[in-house]
Amino acid sequence: MTRLRTELRAVGIDNFLRRNLSSQPTQMAPRLLGTVFGIDPEWLPDDAFHFLLLKKAIERASLKRQKLPQYNTIDDAAQLLRTRRNIMVITGAGISTSLGIPDFRSKNTGFYDKVKAMGLAEGEEVFDIHEFDHDPTKFYSLAGDILPDLKRFSPTHAFIKLLQDEGRLQTNYTQNIDNLEQLAGVDQARLIQCHGSFATATCRKCRHQVPGREIFDDIRAKRVSRCKSCLLNPTKPTVPSNPRKRRKGSTRPQRHVWEDSDDESDGAYDIPQPGVMKPDITFFGEQLPDTFFTRFSEHDCKAVDLVLVMGTSLKVAPVSEMSRYLPPQVPHVYVSREPIKHVNFDIQLLGDCDHVAFELCRRAGWTLKHAMIPDGFKVKVKPVEGSGEQWRVLPRESNKKSGAVTPASRAGTPGSLRASPSPLKVKASVREASRSPRPPAIGKNDGELRPFYEKYLGKA
Ligand SMILES: [Zn+2]
Repeated sequence: MTRLRTELRAVGIDNFLRRNLSSQPTQMAPRLLGTVFGIDPEWLPDDAFHFLLLKKAIERASLKRQKLPQYNTIDDAAQLLRTRRNIMVITGAGISTSLGIPDFRSKNTGFYDKVKAMGLAEGEEVFDIHEFDHDPTKFYSLAGDILPDLKRFSPTHAFIKLLQDEGRLQTNYTQNIDNLEQLAGVDQARLIQCHGSFATATCRKCRHQVPGREIFDDIRAKRVSRCKSCLLNPTKPTVPSNPRKRRKGSTRPQRHVWEDSDDESDGAYDIPQPGVMKPDITFFGEQLPDTFFTRFSEHDCKAVDLVLVMGTSLKVAPVSEMSRYLPPQVPHVYVSREPIKHVNFDIQLLGDCDHVAFELCRRAGWTLKHAMIPDGFKVKVKPVEGSGEQWRVLPRESNKKSGAVTPASRAGTPGSLRASPSPLKVKASVREASRSPRPPAIGKNDGELRPFYEKYLGKA
């Protein structure tokens, strides 16, 4: 595989195909080559379709980032932090779980059990815009469970703020909707909330936007929040709020059943109904915020000189695709509980994000101050066997002996730190699966995302 990748980079896709796809007995059969590039060998489409997929898979492989050999250790990472000035930080659920915020998309939080008890087949339905417009009570009866308390942020959030204070934070792209980056003091201008957040809420009818906290009481009381602007201006024109078509095969009525309007009445006694407020988190069926693409293409992709990924397994587009559009010499550092393979990182620091952030700061000559980091806190760093760039970062036993409360001891089970697929990804894969019984193992999100990047970056 390494030999093939090297060859691919050296000769380009077309020459690579010419050299490797042939009837010559010394060369590789197309289906074997397909297996090398991730196409299921048991899947037997016709040759033309297989070739199309193979070409796409090879294109994808040719875009995959290559590891830089000069960066390998935690000290290399600390040195990079100290010397780079335009750091892109990509974050996910793992940076908030030490606060006890459940990764509500993972199966073992109890959230999904509640969803099932409400008669919804899938947890994702709570975050489906069509479901919401059809019946917002389901979302409102569950949203209290995922509402951030907005009083605490984690040491990792403090670390991102520290990078900003040191003048090194280019942009923080977060997949989290808890808005704790803002609580920690990360500048709004340097923060991209890829999946939106609870920071604001918008009326589904008139698009009136309010600070998110104005609807928190309703969310906590499990009461559907109504738009005050609609109430004050009942004649305001309504804005179509549902740009995409409904899913095929849906038998649901188009009319919103929760609206009290009655087509059969003569209208004489109708009271105009205010619209429903929705937190500005990105639901299934909604576009990602434009700010993501604009910020990445116009500000970041040429300026970034270090990428730091924390607390996410990077399985979710669009963040999973970003490294492919950055210059190849930009170093990439990964911080999470478990290693990842589908993106080549230069350094992987495996442990609680809070612990790794603490140690990176210490080695960079900074102090990360946070109530959850006790005085005298120490970690040990051990190499992962068989790997030159992976390191386990664990709290020292002495922390426990001295009675110190470590961030880890407040965290949930080890599994709770694992980032899980976002609604966007889950839905995409569900749709994909319903279309094709055996989806090829290549770029499931490409169709949706590549056009955006291509538009902004002019890449083929
Ligand atoms: Zn309204």
